Amino acid sequence: MTCLTCRNWSIASLCGACAARLEVAPDRIVDGHRVVTGLEHRGPARILIHRLKYEAMLEAAQVLAPLVSSQLDYPVDAVTYVPRVLARRWRYGIDQSRELARAIAAELGVPTIRSLQPPWWSPPSAGAPAASRRPPAFSIRRRFPIPTGRWLIVDDVLTTGATLGQAAQKLREEFLIDVRLAVATSATEVTSLRSRR
Ligand SMILES: [Zn+2]
Repeated sequence: MTCLTCRNWSIASLCGACAARLEVAPDRIVDGHRVVTGLEHRGPARILIHRLKYEAMLEAAQVLAPLVSSQLDYPVDAVTYVPRVLARRWRYGIDQSRELARAIAAELGVPTIRSLQPPWWSPPSAGAPAASRRPPAFSIRRRFPIPTGRWLIVDDVLTTGATLGQAAQKLREEFLIDVRLAVATSATEVTSLRSRR
């Protein structure tokens, strides 16, 4: 097979050279809540996110998921996610955070729930100045059995944390549950590999 990131021949999803360049990221804090963070958003990790998000390569989620789940030091009862806005989900044929959530839930042996409904569209956040970003307005999906206990909400890339924080707060207020946060990669500023997404 070929390496997911450099595309050289490899016996695993990531070749040894790319795997060695992955950098585990320290936890971050969003709105006073700890965010378990898989990797620093650079090098091969950034390319993995790109493969998943823009090329719909599901294997990238399989590589990223254990790097997140292995850092969780508490049990969760369900995994949910920050959904991609519909216009981009259709354009790229994937909701990357949903795929990450599924892969993480499979690692943990718990269900994945679609709890939030995304808007049709919102301005792209990747590459935009932090001050101009507005989190998409999510609504609550009600047609799902509501697991009790503790939920993990997953997003792909953590930049300012505004979107993740807003989504988690919405779930806490609606369901009065303990919501913990996790992301695949952490970036202080994201520059998209594409000029526009
Ligand atoms: Zn490689």
